[in-house]
Amino acid sequence: MIKAGLIGGKLSHSLSPQIHEKYWRLSGMLGRYALIETDERHLKERLDEIQALGFAGVNVTIPHKTAVMRCLDVISPEADAIGAVNTIHFRSGKRIGHNTDYFGLKSLLDRNGFTLTGSRVAILGSGGAARCALALCRDEQAAEVLVVSRSPEKADAMLNAVGYEALDASDRIDLLINATPSGMFPHTGECPVSDAVIQKCENIADMIYNPARTLLLQKAAKLGKGAVNGLWMLCAQAIKAQEIWTGRPFEEPICRTIYEGLKEPVPRSNIVLIGMPGSGKSTVGQILAERLFYRFADTDAMIEAQHGLIQTIFDTQGEAVFRDMELKAARQAACRQNCVVSTGGGIVQTGAAMDALKETGIVVYIDRPLEKLLNEVDISGRPLLAGGRQQLIALFQKRRALYRQYADVVIDNSGSARQCAEQIIQKLEDIRK
Ligand code: NAP
Repeated sequence: MIKAGLIGGKLSHSLSPQIHEKYWRLSGMLGRYALIETDERHLKERLDEIQALGFAGVNVTIPHKTAVMRCLDVISPEADAIGAVNTIHFRSGKRIGHNTDYFGLKSLLDRNGFTLTGSRVAILGSGGAARCALALCRDEQAAEVLVVSRSPEKADAMLNAVGYEALDASDRIDLLINATPSGMFPHTGECPVSDAVIQKCENIADMIYNPARTLLLQKAAKLGKGAVNGLWMLCAQAIKAQEIWTGRPFEEPICRTIYEGLKEPVPRSNIVLIGMPGSGKSTVGQILAERLFYRFADTDAMIEAQHGLIQTIFDTQGEAVFRDMELKAARQAACRQNCVVSTGGGIVQTGAAMDALKETGIVVYIDRPLEKLLNEVDISGRPLLAGGRQQLIALFQKRRALYRQYADVVIDNSGSARQCAEQIIQKLEDIRK
């Protein structure tokens, strides 16, 4: 039985146990992977205990990747160059520190055809992951590397970091690597750079893997850039650590199997329903939630629970204030997992709300034909339909293109709510196959 684990600060969201335990299963080995939370003061003590228990080694994560170096006997050349250790091997009574993030990042970039040699690269952040990216850029002979920090004067002098304004001044970036937590769950609404900077980039690699599509990656994809997240890197660094612990060489097919298993549904497990008022989002959503054993959330209901009736908000504070409340509700809903989210008909007018929802959910447009809406929709309590049928027609025409723009799936809801829910389940099964 191989024993290994992860030592770090907060570990409750870690995917590492899943990756390593699956690796052992696929490789016909028996193993156990432990999560060991500790503060820096007790780091050495924890390592002593783990080593005494006969562990093959441990992975190290935030915030101990640098501090742990003081507790080691030998440090590998790549870990030494980076100044951070993410994997420790207990061998013949000695503690040897490695950095497999370096291998993981190289593997991610190679796999996506993102070349470093001769390229102009920008690395966001000045922590361990940024130092790892910088070491790789140097080894691969990138033509120019900018390490970008919010406070370059505080960053390690070795990094030669510059401020974010340097990105505005540069005219072309072949590869931008995000090595900051900006955009990571639960701060999913953040994007570390402006649209103008994204526009200058050819490719973007975000080391973040939860959510799978950060705001940065969504914007990059919309602008037609090459965009990849850090999930492959996470898997590759883990399997490289296994090579160090078990002696079994890194195998790409095993890495791919583990990666494919993790790709969905964790990052995009929500189902987000959009569509016109009266198209059936709430009813269909509740049926879906029941059928799939998902939770159910309704952004309009979330707003009313906190701020009172939507009609009153419109009357007393206006639509802009309502849209702001709706954006906040969308971001809260996007932080959930395995949840059906029913939204207000006008949410597609707020791009930031849709971006947040798309990060963690598959967006389904419930397309109810206009004639049915005209016969069925009760306009009372719907501030934007106070003008009656003509207003409903105008809204339908204005919003239809937006619904289609944001939808991953379009469902024609000409029948009953139950039929619509079944169609959605079928479509999602096809997508996730
Ligand atoms: P870290 O040591 O905490 O450094 C992150 C750096 O990002 C900080 O030094 C800071 O630099 C900057 N930063 C922090 N908060 C920010 C914010 N809200 N907005 C913009 N910049 C911010 O962390 P790390 O170990 O380098 O990891 C960085 C990211 O890479 C994390 O998201 C981590 O999950 C990810 N990562 C992924 C993998 C993988 O396998 N996929 C491996 C390693 C790391 P300045 O103050 O200088 O701006």
